[in-house]
Amino acid sequence: MQVEILNTGTELLLGTTQNTHGGWLGAALRNLGVRVARQVTVADGEPVMEAIKEGVERADILIVTGGLGPTSDDLTREAVAEAMGIELIEDEHALRVIEAFFQKIGKEMAPSNRKQALIPCGAEVLPNPNGTAPGVYVPPRLGKGAPCAVFLLPGPPRELYPMYHAEVPHRVRALADIGESHTMVEMKFTGIGESDFHESLDSRLQAIRGLEVGYCARPSEVDLRLIGEAEVVEEARQLVAEVFPDEMISDDGRSLEKVVVDLLTEKGLLIATAESCTGGAIASRLTDVAGASEVFTHGFVSYSNAAKSQLLGVDEAALEAHGAVSEVVAKAMAEGALQQSGADIAVAVTGIAGPGGGSEEKPVGTVWIGLAVRGREVAAVRAFYPKDRATFKLMVEQRALDMVRK
Ligand code: ATP
Ligand code: MG
Repeated sequence: MQVEILNTGTELLLGTTQNTHGGWLGAALRNLGVRVARQVTVADGEPVMEAIKEGVERADILIVTGGLGPTSDDLTREAVAEAMGIELIEDEHALRVIEAFFQKIGKEMAPSNRKQALIPCGAEVLPNPNGTAPGVYVPPRLGKGAPCAVFLLPGPPRELYPMYHAEVPHRVRALADIGESHTMVEMKFTGIGESDFHESLDSRLQAIRGLEVGYCARPSEVDLRLIGEAEVVEEARQLVAEVFPDEMISDDGRSLEKVVVDLLTEKGLLIATAESCTGGAIASRLTDVAGASEVFTHGFVSYSNAAKSQLLGVDEAALEAHGAVSEVVAKAMAEGALQQSGADIAVAVTGIAGPGGGSEEKPVGTVWIGLAVRGREVAAVRAFYPKDRATFKLMVEQRALDMVRK
């Protein structure tokens, strides 16, 4: 087991601050029965990137100190995400904790502090009761490439020492006898939030010994990563699948669009899309999947009312009477797409992304999603996502694809 320490901070190389963390961590780990094989000190910025890339390739456990602050030279999170091929996502809970910390000390939170809530997707957030920057634990096999486990700990000693004692020793002990059968399963869900998992599953998952659980919440999707010995992971997978069978998109890391394309391929069905507020994003996602040509026929982008009539044959009088964002028009768009394309299924979306264009009756965030399936009565549902434009579009895409999936 190769354990390495990486101390970051230009001040450590200028001689203005003595690097005491290297020795302190070496001694603490020796007490655990773990020997540190290498300790590296690098300046902030680009050298951190390089050192992390090298470190995760070589080590089984890499412990990084410093660089979790809000300033532009604090690059540790970004470096780990890039080196390990993991996306950085704003962790809602971490952000709330940072906000609460500022409230407690009676200071306004600077916008730059928001960056401290960026966490590599699926990694664990390590609470920092003594400062703003949460620590991060990236379990082995979460990243692409080498299966290194990485700890990101804050630079200030009064934050580092307590976090080390609370978060590091038990994880290092568990890592020290990791077997070859260690695996990872990625499950994806939609229609439920991260808090639903915490409420329904946390205690039961915690009761499974040797299991690492990581959440990653995005708009209308929660990704859950289960890491541990194969049988432990399988036990957890079954438990989660039983609790949220309808919300589960996949238990093998497949994206929602991939699941939809696979399902349609299996059933030999063709699909067309009719999009207003998403501007073709649903078609784009479907065509991201290799093999989409087997199932995807037409993607209509009918943004204006005129386009809805011309491309999809939506009745002008209906547009006038009900407005473009309505049950009638969503259904007519789906039916029109079905007829024009000759496909078996058509999904249509029409909504108000905002920030302008809302009314009392139809506030910004309102969307109607129509689904036409050959031989069945056309259906439509109304949803409400009062978010920024980009998030609204993502949530509409998710919902529309999920309706096709079901
Ligand atoms: P911050 O939010 O304070 O920027 P950070 O996680 O980015 O936190 P650094 O900026 O790297 O941490 O370090 C903050 C302070 O912690 C430094 O000014 C220094 O006093 C102390 N420190 C950092 N690294 C070490 C070290 N290796 N040895 C001793 N002290 C250190
Ligand atoms: Mg700093």
